[in-house]
Amino acid sequence: MNDPLTRLIGEFARLPGIGKRTATRLAHHLLKVPLVEAKNLADSIVAVKERLINCSVCNAITEIDPCSLCTDPERDSTKLCVVEEPFNIHPMERTGEYTGRYHVLMGALSPQRGIGPKSLRISGLMNRLEGVEEVILATNPSVEGEATALYLARLLKAQGICVSRLAFGMPVGGDIEYTDEVTLARSLAGRREL
Ligand code: ZN
Repeated sequence: MNDPLTRLIGEFARLPGIGKRTATRLAHHLLKVPLVEAKNLADSIVAVKERLINCSVCNAITEIDPCSLCTDPERDSTKLCVVEEPFNIHPMERTGEYTGRYHVLMGALSPQRGIGPKSLRISGLMNRLEGVEEVILATNPSVEGEATALYLARLLKAQGICVSRLAFGMPVGGDIEYTDEVTLARSLAGRREL
């Protein structure tokens, strides 16, 4: 059994974007903080795991199922915005320009990483097209995001749905989560039909 410090470093190192050096620095930082601060961190990790789930309709992160984005009567049910990850919803909401509903794919197509259409929540999307007039594909402007958008556009257009894509004024390879709301609002307003 590893000693507690080695174990903590190992756990940090498993997180995305955290290498061994950063993991070591974080663990040593926690050794120095008051116990209550470390407990707050541990409790908040457990709380997100115990209290949050993915919405059974749109896959957004929520405490209640279906989520408020799906049940809010004020939102426009004729529009559906498709994003890769739950954390891509927040930047769209921040623009204040989008009032439709969402569908989270839980990833993007990536043959290299073995992620095919069956790995994504595509059947859920195809099952909720009733009353939908426009699907806005807001996958990232990366190779995977573009491939996913093209794949979905073909499926959706075969169902007679109007399909559009954000007109990205953001660098290729950039992520929606890193795009400021003004740029994103412009991308939304200038979306083009596929
Ligand atoms: Zn939902």
